[in-house]
Amino acid sequence: MSELAIEPDKISQSHDIQAIFENLKANQFNVGRTTVRARIAKLKRFHATMLRFQEEINEAMWADFRKSPTEVAISEIGVVNTEIRHAIRNLRTWLTPKRVGMPLMMIGTRSEIRYEPKGVCLIIAPWNFPFCLSLAPVALAIAAGNVVVLKPSEMAPHSSAVMKKIIEEVFPANEVAVVEGAVEVATQLLALPFNHIFFTGSPQVGKIVMRAAAEHLASVTLELGGKSPVIVDETANLNLAAAQISWINAMNAGQICIAPDYVLVHENVKEALLLKLKEKSEKFYGNTPEARATTPDYARLSTDRHFSRVKDLLDDALAQGAQLVFGGNTNAAERYIEPTLLDHVPDEAKIWKEEVFGPVLPIRTFKQIEEVIEYVNKDERPLAMYIFSARKRFIEQIFAETRSGGIAANECAIQFYHNDLPFGGSNNSGIGKGHGEFGFMEFINQRGITFQNRIFPHTLLFMPPYGGKLARLLLKGVARWF
Ligand code: NAD
Repeated sequence: MSELAIEPDKISQSHDIQAIFENLKANQFNVGRTTVRARIAKLKRFHATMLRFQEEINEAMWADFRKSPTEVAISEIGVVNTEIRHAIRNLRTWLTPKRVGMPLMMIGTRSEIRYEPKGVCLIIAPWNFPFCLSLAPVALAIAAGNVVVLKPSEMAPHSSAVMKKIIEEVFPANEVAVVEGAVEVATQLLALPFNHIFFTGSPQVGKIVMRAAAEHLASVTLELGGKSPVIVDETANLNLAAAQISWINAMNAGQICIAPDYVLVHENVKEALLLKLKEKSEKFYGNTPEARATTPDYARLSTDRHFSRVKDLLDDALAQGAQLVFGGNTNAAERYIEPTLLDHVPDEAKIWKEEVFGPVLPIRTFKQIEEVIEYVNKDERPLAMYIFSARKRFIEQIFAETRSGGIAANECAIQFYHNDLPFGGSNNSGIGKGHGEFGFMEFINQRGITFQNRIFPHTLLFMPPYGGKLARLLLKGVARWF
């Protein structure tokens, strides 16, 4: 086979993808013209159908990575539910054209901003919260009047199949299409001239997406990841801090983009915090390694590749001299990694260099706030940061002297749940924001519109030949008064 030849099944796949795209593109203005009332009706149907599939969603998530139905309710269905209901409540306001004033330069005109759909949108989702990170952006794209291709992650195949069923039940194929597949399929999709690409995943793939988008100058929203630090000051309520850190670090087996990635704790309270963290892990998941390995409340790593990657980070840290404070047990056959705490991890360990994205939490100490700021700022900007402290000045200084996508004081991950807060990263952790009106606006073309009066458009005064008295006066005025 020559280098340029494509295998037959890939040819038919790429033709299908092209046909799906053309079909959506041909329908974009019909969908874009739909009324607020029609879009709300669609969102309600979408919502009701998703709830009807709740049992199938639970089964799919258990089959994909043994995620407990309670976590599915809190972090998958609950999030999509809130996003859709919030959009239904606010859509009329979001879509109402905004009148703007009339500056002197625009005398005699009337102007407004209209909120138009961008057109044909591509949503590429990761596997770690397959429903939430696929269906919530679809809801916002639909609310904005777009037509959509959703490509769920191939790493959560059961969830992907259920989403396809839900979408096909609610939307015609020329409005929302689900295209399942892995990297080749994503690559074929990225070659098409979408108007907007909403990507959630790793910074590495985010760069590939942005490069592909540049070919067509498609706008992008990149919801990426990174290392999200937790800072624990000596004034923190250690009991609460430990509960929140342990819960979110082990939820979804640590496979959360905004999970605590490492802890920076004041040296005076390190031992006390470690004790509390151990206590909380035992309380949440069981007093013995056997209990923790069998509790239905604790998920698994999603694939063998992800299991090996996290296990390798753990093994590397231990080989370099890290001290195992808690956990450390693993089971490759089950893709199980126990909630694990590491202390005294040398700087050279790989765990300090890449996003852990698993239930292994390294801890390091600080004496002065300046050390915290320097440590956080030396690397890429985090997606999230968490500060546990009773001192407002400490918290405010960290706010002022660091940058991240989001930040929470005395809590972990809670910022994700507020629909009136923008959710997203900063540079390496993301570009653009999701959730509520911020996410909706990513799918909107804000079109500036001006109506000129038809009797005496003021622009007549500026036209050539230049040099007349009135024109000279006006030009002087342009510089001084307008
Ligand atoms: P990933 O980047 O490997 O995959 C995400 C999607 O991109 C999948 O649909 C996959 O099929 C596709 N993809 C993979 N390789 C590709 C390529 N070469 N070209 C085109 N498409 C490709 O991410 P993941 O492993 O599914 O998820 C984990 C990452 O996502 C972590 O970094 C995590 O922090 C991040 N994440 C971010 C958020 C957020 O909201 N900011 C949420 C969840 C996960």
